[in-house]
Formats: sequence, structure tokens, C-alpha cells
Amino acid sequence: MQTANDIRRTFLDFFAKQGHQIVDSSPLVPRNDPTLMFTNAGMVQFKNVFTGAETRPYKRAVTSQKCVRAGGKHNDLDNVGYTARHHTFFEMLGNFSFGDYFKDDAIAFAWNLITKEYGLPADKLLVTVHTSDEDAAAIWRKVAGLSDDRIIRIPTDDNFWRMGDTGPCGPCSEIFYDHGPSIAGGPPGSADQDGDRFIEIWNLVFMQYEQLGPDNLVPLPKPSIDTGMGLERLAAVLQGKHDNYDIDLMRSLILASAEATKTSPDGAHAVSHRVIADHLRSTSFLIADGVLPSNEGRGYVLRRIMRRAMRHAHMIGAREPLMHRLVPALIQQMGDAYPELNRARALIVETLKLEETRFKQTLERGLRLLEDEVGHLGEGQPLAGDVAFKLYDTYGFPLDLTQDVLRGQGRGVDEAGFKAAMDEQRRKARESWAGSGEVGTEKLWYEIKDELGATEFFGYDTEVAEGKVTA
Ligand code: ATP
Ligand code: MG
Ligand code: MG
Ligand code: MG
Repeated sequence: MQTANDIRRTFLDFFAKQGHQIVDSSPLVPRNDPTLMFTNAGMVQFKNVFTGAETRPYKRAVTSQKCVRAGGKHNDLDNVGYTARHHTFFEMLGNFSFGDYFKDDAIAFAWNLITKEYGLPADKLLVTVHTSDEDAAAIWRKVAGLSDDRIIRIPTDDNFWRMGDTGPCGPCSEIFYDHGPSIAGGPPGSADQDGDRFIEIWNLVFMQYEQLGPDNLVPLPKPSIDTGMGLERLAAVLQGKHDNYDIDLMRSLILASAEATKTSPDGAHAVSHRVIADHLRSTSFLIADGVLPSNEGRGYVLRRIMRRAMRHAHMIGAREPLMHRLVPALIQQMGDAYPELNRARALIVETLKLEETRFKQTLERGLRLLEDEVGHLGEGQPLAGDVAFKLYDTYGFPLDLTQDVLRGQGRGVDEAGFKAAMDEQRRKARESWAGSGEVGTEKLWYEIKDELGATEFFGYDTEVAEGKVTA
């Protein structure tokens, strides 16, 4: 079996042999990029190289990049536990050309790597291209010998990749693996493409433009290549699994969670163990990169992920803090590839433990309150906004935590009511500040917030420090 660690190595070696510099993953908190919440793709650390603002001593690079997609333009937090293919933290394998090779080589490299080195059967693969990109379709026909029905033309933004609202971007071509008719889901471009039968494994982006503003797209100085393949998705395919959570790496974390709680890894608790395994990775890696739980910005996203994991730990019966006990299993799996985990071991363990200890009490009480309230509701009736707000304000339940609890029951939250309750509390706070006669920082920050507007909801006592983080 090719383990996840083998698969990462093969990727880096293959491209190193083709003249690519092996570059370390950049941190999850993007340097010098206030527009982005977390590093969400391999190209992020090369953004300025694509635009020409920065040069490097190499024209080809290969990386295995730590990515977090929880918040911002690419947000998969709500997919975890629900799809077979999404994590909040994952590794993106990517090769890059900075004005060096373009589509022909990018497609040939990708095809050779997956069919020859990794040995994937060609007849299970299909690709997409952007409708405007006949070049790419012709190259696929030539290089891979794919018939026309397996080169699917997509007119939408699914085949136009963007990092965020600004930055380098371009049409892309994606490689899909068909897991067969026993799994629900249609081919890319079809109405039920979000099923898990046809899984997108690799995205080849033909970087040609830079997005400067909403309607301002300019050509890049030199066409370039940016690709991204999810290590876990590739591992699933190579290990004969349909589900990312069944690969060796994720499975070992799931087993650690099952063992620590003396529960079965499968059956009724399977989803909880998956969520815990996923959130263990994102929280530990974020802490290792310097993010700490807080009530604002990145720290609040971290806190939200932690609290979702804790709710699942509670569901499987853990009565003592659980997450920190799983850190050794994570380091055993990933510590060699990412030595920062080991360096931050004590900080990760302590942070997880403290946060879980503090939230435990209110979690239990909040869940009871929620259960009570739900008992009074009719089928499918949403939870009242002021109850969700009370859970938020008094019990420390981020709105998405409450929503996640209710989702299993096919129930939502009256979000407008939630927002109204929050605005009301904010108004009162503002009044009492004004009444106190002090010109406090708090008042100032309400004003700043009103000017800038909140771009995303991060929590009541928090939005200002958030400032302009939009993607
Ligand atoms: P999907 O449509 O499945 O959500 P995507 O189009 O959002 O994926 P890209 O932005 O194209 O993904 O990222 C490149 C590759 O990274 C994907 O082809 C996939 O292999 C991997 N990937 C993306 N999001 C995730 C995730 N949340 N968890 C694991 N792998 C991911
Ligand atoms: Mg996605
Ligand atoms: Mg996609
Ligand atoms: Mg994609």
C-alpha cells in the first residue's frame, strides 16, 4: 500500500526530477496578506511571484502545502462530517511554473504522474476544461488519448480558479476519479455533481490574469502554472477507498479517538470520530502556526473549530478533555513531514486542554437548554433567534455550533432573529458607554465597524479587530 507519507514523497520527487525546486510549506497564517484568513492553496505563498512583484531564484517549484478552509471564500467547515472528500485541514500537493512551462507540460506531467508513477487506471479518469479553453481540450486528447465524452466543458466559475476577491487567477482544468455507480452523484457539470461518485482530485490552473477589483482583470506578465491536488483524496483513490477518512493517516487518528474514549470507531459514532480527527489536525496546525483561540478574527475561527470538536467528544461520551490526548497520534503520523508540530507540542497540548476545560461546563448546560427548547418546537420549525443568541452570549456557543447541532434534526436557526438580538445588545452596550461619559475604545470601535462594515460574522465582541479580512 502507498501510505499518505509515501504519496507525498513520490509527488515531490517526481517534480524535483523535472527540475522543480522543493519548497517548504508556508505557514497557515499568510505573511503580508491581510486579505486572506488562512492559507487555502499552494499558490498563496507564490502570489507575488505570479504577479511579477517578487522574483525567486527558481522558475519551477513543488510543494506540499498545509491548507485550512474554514472561513472566507473557500470554507469547508460545514462539509466536514457530511461529505467523503472535505477536511478543514488538508495538504495540497502542487507544482508551479513561474513564466516557464505552460499548459502542454502541465497536462503531460499530471497525466504521467498519476497514470504511470501512481498507477491509476486511465479508464476511471475524466477531466474538465473551461468552455473557452479549446487548447486545453486538444492537449488532453493528444497527451492522454481521452475521448471527447471524457473531456467535459464547463462554462461556470468552477473552472475559473480564484484565490479570493483579488489575486492571480485563470481558467483551470480538473481531473476527476470515478468511484463507480454504487456511489451517488453525477459527473462534473451535471445537476448532482456535488455527490461523491466523481471526486475531483487535481486542479490545474492556467494562471493568466490578476484580479485587481470586481471588474478589473488584467493579464499577468507571463502565463504561469499553479496546480493543486488534495493528498488525502489521492490517497483514498490509491488505497482503494472511497472516503478520505478511510485512508491510513486519517484512520489512525480515528482509531486514537476511539481508543481514548473506549468506543467503536465505526457505527453510531463514526461521524463524531471523523470530525474529531479532522478538527484535531486543523486546530493543532493552526496553534503550531501561532493562532490562539480568541474572540476575534482568526482566533475566533480556531475557537469555533475547537468547540465543534468538543461537542462531538461530548456526544461520544468523553467526560474529560479529549483533544489534547490525541496530539501524540497526530505527531506520530505527521511530525516528520511537519517538524513544527513537534516544536509546538507543549503549546498545542496546553491550549487544547485549557480551552476544553473552560468550555466543558457551559457546553453541557447549553446543550441541555437547547434540547429543552427544541422539545417545544414543531417538526422542522427553526430555533428562535433569541435562544440562539442566549446560547452564544451566555454559553459560548458560536452560531455555527448551534446550527451544526440542529442540522442533524433537519432544523435551522432564525438567523435574522439572532442578528436582531445581537444588534439590540450592541445598541444597549453603546448607550451605556455613551451614558458613562467616557470616550472609551469600545465606542471608537463601534464607529470603525460601522464604517468598514462586517464582511463576515465572527462574533459580537470581536468584529473590529477583524478589520478588512475578507477572503
Ligand atoms: P471541491 O469542489 O471538491 O470542493 P475545490 O474545487 O474547492 O474542491 P480546489 O480549490 O480546486 O478545490 O483545490 C484543489 C484541490 O485541493 C482539489 O482538487 C482537491 O483535491 C483538494 N481539496 C480542496 N478542498 C479540499 C478539502 N476541503 N479537503 C480536502 N481536499 C481538498
Ligand atoms: Mg470546494
Ligand atoms: Mg471543485
Ligand atoms: Mg477545484
